This record gives sequence, structure tokens and C-alpha cells, in this order.
Amino acid sequence: MNDKNSQHKKRMQAVKEKVDQRIENAQEERGIVIVITGNGKGKSTSGFGTIARAAGHGLNAAVVQYIKGTWACGERQLLENAGVSFDVMGTGFTWNTQDKAQDIAAAQKVWQRSKELLSDSRVDVLLLDEITYMVAYKYIDLEEVLSAIKNRPQSQHVIITGRGCHRAIIELADTVSEVQSIKHAFDNGIKAQKGIDW
Ligand code: ATP
Ligand code: MG
Repeated sequence: MNDKNSQHKKRMQAVKEKVDQRIENAQEERGIVIVITGNGKGKSTSGFGTIARAAGHGLNAAVVQYIKGTWACGERQLLENAGVSFDVMGTGFTWNTQDKAQDIAAAQKVWQRSKELLSDSRVDVLLLDEITYMVAYKYIDLEEVLSAIKNRPQSQHVIITGRGCHRAIIELADTVSEVQSIKHAFDNGIKAQKGIDW
């Protein structure tokens, strides 16, 4: 038993040394780009979670939503009350509207707003929810997105969510997570539910 204990202690000491070294090595402080992509559930909720975390620390946070669902998401009211600014694309899901010209105009409008936020040094954290689809459909220009992100204020954090994130955005990002779907209630005929899905 004692032998096992001392072995465990040794192992933990080695782990601690490694972790301490990594903490010591991480000294740079600047705004980062986070991408949450993949087919599983949890991308937007993760983005909103980070916005709530930032707002909780009194940071100035903003959200731009590129695809508006049929129902307003629950996070909006809560976070707006906490001083988070929201800009929402004026159309429904693109596969519902089926009007390409209207969708492009709507996407461009919120993109202009996103660019303003990406050049505003008062914005500490910015969530660009579902922007990946706008780039995939070429409703907004990839190069413009990359350049606006690269030229943003040095301390500003940007969170990008949505499936199929473009490789160039992934390369530019500092932290990238892919949410993998193992299963989803919807596949078994369970309806999207208030407070869980929107
Ligand atoms: P959430 O907003 O719940 O974090 P998400 O942002 O990861 O989800 P989206 O692709 O933006 O996922 O889809 C939004 C809606 O679709 C949510 O209502 C979500 O529950 C649902 N959804 C997400 N992933 C799946 C899936 N794999 N199968 C079916 N429905 C899904
Ligand atoms: Mg989402």
C-alpha cells in the first residue's frame, strides 16, 4: 500500500512539474479567436456561455447572429439585460426563405455591423454565431472576414460558431473545437424544445 502511495505521489509530482512548466511558458496576453464547429449540438450554447462568462466579469460583450431561427433564443433577453448588444440577421433560416438575393442583402447588412464591432476597441468579446454558413454560401467574402479578424483590436476576443468552418478561418484561429454528434434527441422524433434547443 505504502509502495503504491509513493509511486502515485511520484507520478503526481511529475505531472505537476509539467503543468507548472506549461503555465510558466504561457505568458502572452492578447485577444484570441475561438472556433466551435462540427455537427454535434453545443456550438452556439458554448459561444453564449463564453459571452455570459465575459459579461459576468464586467467585460463588454457583443453578439451577432447570422441565422435567426423561428423563435428568439432564450439567451438574448438574459444577456441583453446584462448589457450585451445583439444584432440579428433579419431573415429566417436560409433554407426556409429560399430567396437568395434577400439572404445575401441580409447577410451583408449584419456583416457591415460585424465589421464595425471588429474595429471597435471598446468591444472585449464578440460572438459571430453561425457566420460559417455565410462564408460557405459565399454570402460574405472569406478574404474580408479574414482581414477584419486579423486587423481587429489587439485585445479583442472573437468566437465563431457553425458547422463546416472554412479551413482558412480554422488556421487563423487560436482555439478550435469540433463538437462531434454521438446522438441527438431529434433523430428519435423528439421535438426541438424551449430552453434546450433555442
Ligand atoms: P445549440 O444552439 O443547441 O448549441 P448548435 O449551435 O451546436 O446547437 P446548430 O447547428 O446551430 O447547433 O443547430 C441549432 C439547432 O439544431 C438547435 O436547436 C440544436 O438542438 C439542433 N441541433 C444541433 N445539432 C443537431 C444534430 N446533430 N441533429 C439534430 N439537431 C441538431
Ligand atoms: Mg448554432
